[in-house]
Amino acid sequence: MDFQLAIIGGGPAGYSAAEAAGKAGLSVVLFEKNALGGVCLNEGCIPTKTLLYSAKVFDGARNASKYAVKADNVSFDLAKIVSRRQKVVRKLVLGIKNKMSESGVTVVTGEAYIQDKNTIKCGDEVYKCEKLMLCTGSKTFVPPVKGLEKIDFWTHREALDCKELPESLVIIGGGVIGMEFASYFCSLGVKVTVVEMTSEILGGIDKEIASLLRAEYTKKGINFMLDAKVTEICNGESGKVTVKYQTADGEGCVESAKLLVSAGRHACTEGYGLENLSLEFTPQHRIMVDTKTMMTSIDGVYACGDITGFSMLAHTAVREAEVAVSHICGKDDNMSYKAIPGVVYTNPEVASVGMTEEMAKAVGFDYKVMKLPMAYAGRFVAENEGVNGICKVITTSNDTIIGAHILGNPASELIVIAGMMIERGKKLEDFKKFVFPHPTVGEIFREF
Ligand SMILES: Cc1cc2nc3c(=O)[nH]c(=O)nc-3n(C[C@H](O)[C@H](O)[C@H](O)COP(=O)(O)OP(=O)(O)OC[C@H]3O[C@@H](n4cnc5c(N)ncnc54)[C@H](O)[C@@H]3O)c2cc1C
Repeated sequence: MDFQLAIIGGGPAGYSAAEAAGKAGLSVVLFEKNALGGVCLNEGCIPTKTLLYSAKVFDGARNASKYAVKADNVSFDLAKIVSRRQKVVRKLVLGIKNKMSESGVTVVTGEAYIQDKNTIKCGDEVYKCEKLMLCTGSKTFVPPVKGLEKIDFWTHREALDCKELPESLVIIGGGVIGMEFASYFCSLGVKVTVVEMTSEILGGIDKEIASLLRAEYTKKGINFMLDAKVTEICNGESGKVTVKYQTADGEGCVESAKLLVSAGRHACTEGYGLENLSLEFTPQHRIMVDTKTMMTSIDGVYACGDITGFSMLAHTAVREAEVAVSHICGKDDNMSYKAIPGVVYTNPEVASVGMTEEMAKAVGFDYKVMKLPMAYAGRFVAENEGVNGICKVITTSNDTIIGAHILGNPASELIVIAGMMIERGKKLEDFKKFVFPHPTVGEIFREF
């Protein structure tokens, strides 16, 4: 079978590329070995946010009296929370299937194997293609910690399926995924400890915002062990897990009923014939791509999404895929990594785009930092009784916006405003040139 474009992997990168290319009139074959939607729809973004929303509703109901609403004896049904998550996923995966058929994409269920850049084998069939796109994503990194192999630990997959809450949970890794699960289980009443090997949670996020979020969750009862490198894990007494760690002050240990390992993800580059392409890799072992077009070192072979290792985010994957298809179709469209938003869906949310203060300092920028409490936005005060937040904007010395960082709901929705300003090279005063609806939390940007 001959196609103009073959895509391996049906996650956000792969299905977005397939849809765009199909709509542009190309003949497209998309290979997916598990489920369309990839990690994002089936075990990542969507399921976690569905669970977190139930936890947020539960938190809201428990705190209803702050808003003069009586909601006594609030409880939750964990089995139903989990089955609602599965229902949401099924609905969205069906939506992707429909999009593929509407775009005329041939979807092949099975593991694709690359024989050469124009030949893909899947099962007994051989497919010929003019262009090839690699969208095979990433997988959980399990750190080589002594004793871990003997423990029945969770990764995000098992944590998503949890229908019986452990009394306590240790999470190795205080990154975005670790903190979202910490938030979820903490809301549901589990005693959570986060063990993080660096000096602050949420690596890559503005340090001040990350420490404020940590303070918020410390108040809610989460125990944080920072600068703590896990050295050994073993089965403790009465079915518990003991996590031993090393800090500058010496050795310590923490016991819990369950262990969740959330120590990062790495690109899927093995087991499907990638070596047959002789691609060039960066010194960080990433596939070398032209960051404007997403083409690899081999003409006609593209790589998009987590496999490139740039941001490990679904929205980056989608945009990279669109840019690659534009390049294949000869359209003028470039990838830009200047304003990729990152969100932590805790409660309160954290969102960040562009440079952090730490990055600006590291590259020697002459930068300015401006901060405002979120209470400057009337809507925030109306809807966040007794909760503080902060909005931080980083500019160059001539007021060009280069970064924005928010702690407070709904940071995930607000950050796009700052992202568009950064992408377009706008200045601080430009916020005031747009009319924002009133009252909205986004009006905070007009206060700078
Ligand atoms: C718990 C969790 C929460 C997350 N939350 C968010 C979030 O809130 N926001 C966000 O932006 N990102 C989030 N992410 C990250 C996000 O899921 C990824 O960035 C995104 O899925 C990457 O898309 P992708 O298309 O590159 O790869 P993937 O989604 O990993 O898809 C790759 C697909 O390729 C298939 N595949 C691999 N090899 C082959 C082969 N040889 N043949 C056929 N098929 C193959 C796989 O089965 C998979 O379906 C989260 C991730 C996790 C784990």
